[in-house]
Amino acid sequence: MGSVPALNSTKPTQIPTQEEDSQNPSTALLSFDTDSSDPSNPPRKHTTTIIFISLLLITCIALSAASAFAFLFFSSASSSSSTPAQKSSHLETTSRPLTKLNRSVVLLISSDGFRFGYQFKTPTPNIHRLIANGTEAETGLIPVFPTLTFPNHYSIVTGLYPAYHGIINNHFIDPLTGEFFTMGSHEPKWWLGEPLWETVANHGLRAATYFWPGSEVHKGSWNCPEEFCMFYNGSVPFEERVDKILSYFDLPSAEIPLFMTLYFEDPDHQGHQVGPDDPEITEAVAGIDRMIGRLINGLEKRGVFEDVNIIMVGDHGMVGTCDKKLIFLDDLASWIDIPAEWVLSYTPVLSIRPPHGVAPWSVVGKMNEGLRSGKVNNGKHLKLYLKEELPSRLHYSASDRIPPIIGLLEEGFKVEQKRTKRQECGGAHGYDNAVFSMRTIFIGHGPEFARGRKVPSFENVQIYNLVTSILKIQGAPNNGSLEFPRSVLLPSPK
Ligand SMILES: [Zn+2]
Repeated sequence: MGSVPALNSTKPTQIPTQEEDSQNPSTALLSFDTDSSDPSNPPRKHTTTIIFISLLLITCIALSAASAFAFLFFSSASSSSSTPAQKSSHLETTSRPLTKLNRSVVLLISSDGFRFGYQFKTPTPNIHRLIANGTEAETGLIPVFPTLTFPNHYSIVTGLYPAYHGIINNHFIDPLTGEFFTMGSHEPKWWLGEPLWETVANHGLRAATYFWPGSEVHKGSWNCPEEFCMFYNGSVPFEERVDKILSYFDLPSAEIPLFMTLYFEDPDHQGHQVGPDDPEITEAVAGIDRMIGRLINGLEKRGVFEDVNIIMVGDHGMVGTCDKKLIFLDDLASWIDIPAEWVLSYTPVLSIRPPHGVAPWSVVGKMNEGLRSGKVNNGKHLKLYLKEELPSRLHYSASDRIPPIIGLLEEGFKVEQKRTKRQECGGAHGYDNAVFSMRTIFIGHGPEFARGRKVPSFENVQIYNLVTSILKIQGAPNNGSLEFPRSVLLPSPK
């Protein structure tokens, strides 16, 4: 509640600056007048005339610069405000009434690997339209650890940290059964917690998913109904996904799903191959913006754009990696042998489960000794922990699925078993969620979100309660705070 709408915050900072600029010369002009009233020094009169002329010139330049700035500021402000209601942003105190829909609808959109800041890489008029007329996490959305795709998408829809929702990595082994989880595993036993589509279905209401990790899994009253639950297929063109979502708004109003998900693989896909600073990313970001434009257009045509609560997020960020930033486990051989069979994942979350009879604490001790010795290439950029001793802010220990030994890598470093001739540069994510490059975006747009408002960064486990608050349904217990929605959403009218 402590934040100020963007229009409010820009006006006082920009306009006074212009006033200050134009005021300085005029105060100088006043002091000149006092100088000229001194007739006792004629040669000085000549100097003061020169000073007068130069100050007059400076004043003219400053005034024209100020008016140019003012023109630019106001013209850009008016071009980004596409609806007249935005002008009254600072007056908004309650959520806006629906004009066409009968009930609140939430459309949750994920653009995979949309690192915070990508929105400034290239003109993104549609994303910026949502930002200008909605509520934005000013310095981005904080992912959960590990900052990987499956753990984060499932945290967003359950409000739970991975240790509690069970998807502790993109791939892992259940130590009790020895079974493997992969991104294609749809058995309910893997997917703990209650995702939003299940919560909605449990209330007898309709949800629809156009891809989201976990959405194909049957849970509670959610049985992934045909037509309202798309089975993951990365080759479906983005346009087709958007158009399907739009088609739901052509249904009779009682049949429109109240909660929908829409997922795009970009720009994560490109980020892994070329890193975050390649022109390919810029192109992918522009492509996502076009999809947002297509969506806005379709909603406007149906007269429901201002009625739908759109929440646009990413799951994590991206950082550049390169062959110079590698650590090889085989380099630790003088301290301890780490066979590949012990290693469940290498990068960026090194996860090790030693066999029975090998004490995890002794493995951690020997590995850290080697890494700190100064004799292992890049060793100081990796630190091993018993999972119980990881920083508590990571919430990464309360699950049997999490292996007993976890290695935290510094941003941009990678672990491999042994040296190879492969030389590669690209991008990665999965690092500590305190690393800024892992941040992604949060934008909320619609009747429950104030226009032009900025809120501080928050963790994505808060989104579950945000959605249930908008839909006015009782959610399942989770790691988010019940007070949080009040700090982001507009209160209902009394
Ligand atoms: Zn991802």
